[in-house]
Parts: sequence; C-alpha cells; structure tokens
Amino acid sequence: MSGLAQFKKAPTYPNYLDYIGYSAIHVACLGAIWTGVTVTDIIVCAASYFVRMFGVMVGFHRYFSHRSFKATRGTQFALALLGTLGVQKGVLWWAAHHRFHHRYSDTEVDVHSPMQRSFLYSHCGWQLDKKNRGTDYTRVADLMKYPEIVWLNDWDLIPQALYAGVIFVFFGWSGVFWGFFISTILLWHAIHGIGSFGHRFGGYRRFITTDNSRNKWFLAILLLGEGWHNNHHFYPSSARQGFVWWEIDIGYYILKVLSWFGLVWDLRVPPEELISNPEPSVQSTMKRFAAWVQGLRKSLHRSVDENAKDATDDEKLALNIFKQGLEARIDAFDADATNLMLKDPGRLGDAELRLRSAMVEETQHIKENVSASITAALPEALQRELSRSLTTCPFRHLLPKEAPHAA
Ligand SMILES: [Zn+2]
Ligand SMILES: [Zn+2]
Repeated sequence: MSGLAQFKKAPTYPNYLDYIGYSAIHVACLGAIWTGVTVTDIIVCAASYFVRMFGVMVGFHRYFSHRSFKATRGTQFALALLGTLGVQKGVLWWAAHHRFHHRYSDTEVDVHSPMQRSFLYSHCGWQLDKKNRGTDYTRVADLMKYPEIVWLNDWDLIPQALYAGVIFVFFGWSGVFWGFFISTILLWHAIHGIGSFGHRFGGYRRFITTDNSRNKWFLAILLLGEGWHNNHHFYPSSARQGFVWWEIDIGYYILKVLSWFGLVWDLRVPPEELISNPEPSVQSTMKRFAAWVQGLRKSLHRSVDENAKDATDDEKLALNIFKQGLEARIDAFDADATNLMLKDPGRLGDAELRLRSAMVEETQHIKENVSASITAALPEALQRELSRSLTTCPFRHLLPKEAPHAA
C-alpha cells in the first residue's frame, strides 16, 4: 500500500483550543480602546480585509474548492497563502468541508445549513464543532499532490503569526489591533454570513435549485462577489458569480486582470443560454435533473460499498479516494449534461458516454491499493448502476434507446 498514510492525518491539538482561539481573537479587538485609532489604522484594516478576503473567496473557494480556473504553481501558492492569512484554518480543511456543503446543501447532512440547524450554528458554530475538526483528505486528493499546499495546510498558524508580526513592525500595536484582530473579525463574520444569510432570509433566487441559496447584494459587496450565492449553487464551477452586469463581482474582475498577465487562465463561466434563458419549464427540468444527480451520487457510492464489503482498512481508504474521484466526474457530467440540454439536447448521449468512460478511467487509479477481485468487478457494477439510474433520469427521453457502453 503506498501513499495512503497522508490521508490518515488527524488534528494534533485538542478541540477546546479552537474555542479559546476563536474567543480570544474577538476579545483582543478591545485592545483598540487602549491604542486608539488613526486614519492609517483604518486603511491597514481595510487593506488587510480586502487581500485576505480575496485569498479566501477567490483562492480557497473558487480555486481550491471548485477548481473554477487554472493558475500557475506560483499563483496557486499565493492564493493559498493569502487565504491562510484569513485565519480560516487550513486550505485543505476549508476545501474539503466546502465540497461537502455543495454535494449535500441544505440536506440533513450539510455541515452548515440554517434550514437544518440553528442560525448561529450555520454562521460559526459548525466550524468549532468537534465533529468538523478533522479533514477528510480523500475529498481533496487532487490537492494533496502539492507538498507546499499540504505544508501550508498543516502549519497555517506560522504564516498567520508572521503576518501579525509584520503588521506590528510597520504599524505598531494599533496596527495589529486594527489590521489583524478587528480586520479578522470583520472578515470572519462576513464569510460566516454566506453559511447563514446566504441560505436564508430575503434576497432573490434567480434559479430553482435543490437548496435554499439566495442572491444578496450586501453580501456580494462584502465578499467581493460571493453574495450571489444562488447563482453559485446553480453553477458552482463558474469562476464568475455575478451573472449579469449589475451583479458586481470584484473577485472575478481581479481574476480577469490576472488572466491578462497569464497568471490564471481558463476562467470557467456558465453558457449564455443558461443566464439568458431561465424559463420556469427549463428550470424545473434542471432542478429535477439536479435532484436526480444527487440520487445518482448516492447509488454509485452504495454500489462501491456493496462491491467492497470485505475490503481492508487501507482498501477502504483507497476506495474513499475513488468515490471522491467519482464525485468529481459526476460534477463534470452534471455541467456537461446541463450545457447540452440547453444547446444541443440530441447529443445528451455523448455526456452519458463520457461519464461511462470516466468511471472506468477512475478505477485504474486505485489498482495499486485495492485487490484485483474488487477492481475487476467494480467497472461493470458501476455501469449497471448508471444504466439502472438512467431509467428515472428526467432527460431519459432524449437519450439513445440502447444505452451505450464505454469500452
Ligand atoms: Zn452554500
Ligand atoms: Zn462553493
């Protein structure tokens, strides 16, 4: 068994330190009463908020959680570093939990749904909850291959402390209270607002989604474009979250500028048909399709588990990585099928075929760590499960009569 140990890491310090740290940073803001405030302090506070918000929202969220654009290795590291300075735990912890949020938004297993738990729990309680402390590294296997990203994730407190130190050197104690502590608290509660306000109360829902996400202008301003949360839940792989010109999306504008310098590229955006044609009938088919995709995820997971009843612990770990790979393939199929449904429904069979071959391809990655008896039976079992699921797909009348099989 090789390379699996890195997926087994557990948190190294006790949970109550999270509570103490979270409370202490709030209390530390009171130090500003002692130092007072200058115009420079306010500018440092705002600048510190802005760059770290960009790091968390565009880096941790749009890039690491959703891979909605591509970046050079250096840019990737810079995004991870800026996000880490936001004191939101490590990048892998963040992305792993966020990916889970999207797959099960507002269902009973969602980590921070205000529809399932209290408002306060969805705002900040969830991240202090003991059960959310660890990281399911199998959810971020695609990011684990970068040692510098893994290091930043494991040692997040080091750059955070250095950052506070650099602010102290340049701006003294009042700079630290305003530029680090107060700025961090503002940053935190704005970002927490996505879990709480982004899924409840007011705003508007342009798209019928399976969750309760909302578009809110005030969140979009505070979060550099991330307040258009209903848009985001409808098309999570988009690098752009404001879909029409008046939905201000500072994060995307900055990405555009970075793309002119070749630092980022392939910024994914939704097809124009999707934005300009949200007719209720089209939308309700898409909602039914999204619900069907959720069912497909569950049935494929079940199929893997049934085929691996006698797996060892290491094999189970490798199969969990496999299941996450499968999830990513289903995400791609979801986007693929949605695009085709709007542009060229006659070719929906192509999306199905691509998913079938992707499932076979994913199986190749685990051969080293999973016994041949399991991997040999898996592709066939998954293809069968997909064929069975397709009989209830809202698009089934558009698919070829004979289900195609990947070689
Ligand atoms: Zn959400
Ligand atoms: Zn997201």
